Amino acid sequence: GADLVLSGVTKRFTEFTAVDNLDLVIPSGSFFALLGPSGCGKTTTLRMIAGLEQPTAGTISIGGKDITGTSPYQRPVNTVFQNYALFPHMSVLDNVAFGLKRRKIRDAEAQAKAALELVELAHLGSRRPAQLSGGQQQRVALARAVVNRPAVLLLDEPLGALDMKLRRQMQVELKKIQTEVGLTFVHVTHDQEEAMTMADTVAVMNHGQVEQMGPPQELYELPRTAFVANFLGKSNLMPATVTGNTGEYLQIDVAGNSLTLLKERATDHAGKILVGIRPEKLRMEADTAAAAPGSIRGVVLDASFTGASTEYLVDAEGIGTVGVFAQNHGGALFNDGDRVRLAWDPEHAFGLSG
Ligand code: ADP
Ligand code: MG
Repeated sequence: GADLVLSGVTKRFTEFTAVDNLDLVIPSGSFFALLGPSGCGKTTTLRMIAGLEQPTAGTISIGGKDITGTSPYQRPVNTVFQNYALFPHMSVLDNVAFGLKRRKIRDAEAQAKAALELVELAHLGSRRPAQLSGGQQQRVALARAVVNRPAVLLLDEPLGALDMKLRRQMQVELKKIQTEVGLTFVHVTHDQEEAMTMADTVAVMNHGQVEQMGPPQELYELPRTAFVANFLGKSNLMPATVTGNTGEYLQIDVAGNSLTLLKERATDHAGKILVGIRPEKLRMEADTAAAAPGSIRGVVLDASFTGASTEYLVDAEGIGTVGVFAQNHGGALFNDGDRVRLAWDPEHAFGLSG
């Protein structure tokens, strides 16, 4: 297949390094998301893949062919931008057919119509872009890119201009379209939910580097850095010291409490570490005389009932404020001031470098 491979790709703007020695292998036909905060180098990476920017160092290849020095038009790559960039004076159909006609493709019109059908806009082909809603214009831009059958489609925050509800709807549609056309999609976003909903593989970028890459669930369940743990949802991170090692489990001390962690879920197996636990993976029970050992004492500071769940803030002894999300099954809820015990299953916590 036509895998997209970046090897040691670096981009420096005078002194500043925007993309730092990036190695990526993006399999042909996959939906790949580049996720990271504003300024981390996502757009610069896409622009180098598109050929709009030359890397300072490194190479880019598609299907084993080095394309690093080639012009944008010579690359089997198309880009969908946030601002759509449609031609305002042309009909929707002509917008989609434009690239094909320029390349003198015989059945340009028929292919353009098929692409409009794919995005469910076949009935609006004779309109001008200005006569369409934002979401519809975005779909025209997508049809215009897909119709050229590029090996790789680059999408730079393509849903950023849409309101939340439409955005969620387009996420599902975009994913469906990608599956139907089977092209490689490289989707840039700073929205973790968007990346996790749509992508097969997510690469989390920070300061021009990929911190971690993998399937969404793996990144969420087993983050390998504090940045990834915090960027993909909420995490409780607590300083801990490894006190024992049984082979399968690590015994750890967290503020004077003895707890356990599955060894394979920890990056470090000795000394000072950070132990992380997602708020929904913390178990909370009333602090009775019979409370289980190996748990952390706390006092409920705040309880927010959200319907399906309740989100608690707990002042954990020796640790500080900890978040706990509890699914509501109709049982009793905890209230501010309640004394509680917090615990986790060893296979739910994760260990990071301290
Ligand atoms: P992102 O898309 O993740 O928000 P960008 O790739 O646009 O980030 O930018 C990464 C960094 O590189 C930013 O700090 C930005 O200011 C800088 N940068 C981008 N383009 C240029 C340029 N042409 N000249 C100088 N600095 C740039
Ligand atoms: Mg950007």
